[in-house]
Amino acid sequence: MSERAVVTAYIALGANLGDRHAALQQALQALRAMAGSGALRSSRLYRSAPVDAGGPDYLNAVAQLTTPLTAPDLLRALQALENAAGRQRPYRNAPRTLDLDLLLYGDARIDSAQLTVPHPRMWERAFVLVPLAELAPHCVPEAALAAVAAQAIALAS
Ligand code: AMP
Repeated sequence: MSERAVVTAYIALGANLGDRHAALQQALQALRAMAGSGALRSSRLYRSAPVDAGGPDYLNAVAQLTTPLTAPDLLRALQALENAAGRQRPYRNAPRTLDLDLLLYGDARIDSAQLTVPHPRMWERAFVLVPLAELAPHCVPEAALAAVAAQAIALAS
């Protein structure tokens, strides 16, 4: 019987409500448990101001995992983790206990009602590109980083 090939995926993690540090650590642990053969790499933690919204600063990171899941199944798994972290959606861009976005799924291009990959807004966001470049510089052209250089982002202490 042939096994499904694993795919390398990149996930953006963010939280700006509650114990942000604990939320990110728990999510990284859950992603590690999900990763095929235990392979997970994560960036350092960053702090960034909310974009197009008020509220407390975000704690952000990006994780790389290998997964046997299809992209829609991976998205469902990420949404289950968001819900388990108490995520609510009272309005667009509301503060959140945990946000998990699927940035890249191998070199797939997906455009369905539920899922767009590469993530449609990733190139506009320093809080995604800076940790992604730390982890996978080949995925982030210099010009893309330069385009978001004005957005404030700092390593979390
Ligand atoms: P949010 O409320 O910001 O977590 O956005 C979640 C919504 O975006 C869900 O309805 C998803 O189906 C949709 N979505 C589309 N593409 C993606 C993606 N690449 N990663 C995460 N959510 C996505």
